Amino acid sequence: MKKFLALTVVLTLCGFFAPVTNAAMRYATIGTGGVTGVYYPTGGAISKMVNKKRSEYNLRVTVESTGGSVFNVNAIMAGDLEFGVIQSDRQYQAYNGKADWDGKPQTKLRAVFSIHPESVTIVAADESGIKTVDDMKGKIINIGNPGSGQRGNAMDLFAAAGIDVEKDITAEGLKAAESAGMLQDGRIDAFFYTVGHPNGSVKEAVAGARKVRFVEVPAKYVDALTSKFSYYAPSSIPVSMYKGVANEGDAATFGVKATFCTSSDVAEDIVYAVVKEVFDNFDAFKKLHPAYQVLTKESMLQGLSAPMHPGALKYYKEAGLMK
Ligand code: GLU
Repeated sequence: MKKFLALTVVLTLCGFFAPVTNAAMRYATIGTGGVTGVYYPTGGAISKMVNKKRSEYNLRVTVESTGGSVFNVNAIMAGDLEFGVIQSDRQYQAYNGKADWDGKPQTKLRAVFSIHPESVTIVAADESGIKTVDDMKGKIINIGNPGSGQRGNAMDLFAAAGIDVEKDITAEGLKAAESAGMLQDGRIDAFFYTVGHPNGSVKEAVAGARKVRFVEVPAKYVDALTSKFSYYAPSSIPVSMYKGVANEGDAATFGVKATFCTSSDVAEDIVYAVVKEVFDNFDAFKKLHPAYQVLTKESMLQGLSAPMHPGALKYYKEAGLMK
């Protein structure tokens, strides 16, 4: 017996009896967007916070560059991704069975928190003569790849402005990461990108030889869109963030919010761990991207339309952020 005890002590000291911390590591992947957007570094920022404690949580978070919001919703629902960054309008549409999910509500979609505001950003070559949305007829416009969030925003804006996408413009479906290069190469006149500011994609477009400008969305269209769809809000693009852009003042447009979502199939303690690390280290998190400057803990609980995941709810109640 004594010998057995001694052996047990030795083996335990050597880590032979695997303590909980040695249980199989769990992996969770965050779907983001193109590498030059804000979603990709956002996935990086969140994973960085959680991975500091990976042995404590037995959880390793990884990040994947994807086609954007619509792709992320579908991949989370298919169980291919545990988390995704998704535009607030897309979260609403998916959960309620609208737009890309017409008649097919994604009832397992769960909200975790909101992140930065995103503006429907239209970047045009200055020489194309596009100053406002009304100047877009007859032009080659990248409305975004089918998995992206911006594609639906472009369609909504065209509908509000009475522009027929089939007849009035030549629509391209390129990924956001390709847009700046295509604009600089003269292959497109303008591109849509629903994105936080500043971001690498717009910086790349502005830094090229071809002068660029942010296209204004007239107030009458912003009013029409915000009164028809509750998830849209007036917004503007701060030109001070992009040296060399042709606009003299901030460009008026409309926008949404980036949100962090998951599925009801993802374990409560995994979602809890992610929320806890972001919120407990909120000041450190905010420093990870300039688009987070405006964030408050309270603002991160607004703009969500799918039910809150129980793991997130548990944290918000503990932290006194929700009743
Ligand atoms: N809002 C874009 C989308 O849903 C992505 C923006 C970004 O990557 O920052 O596709």
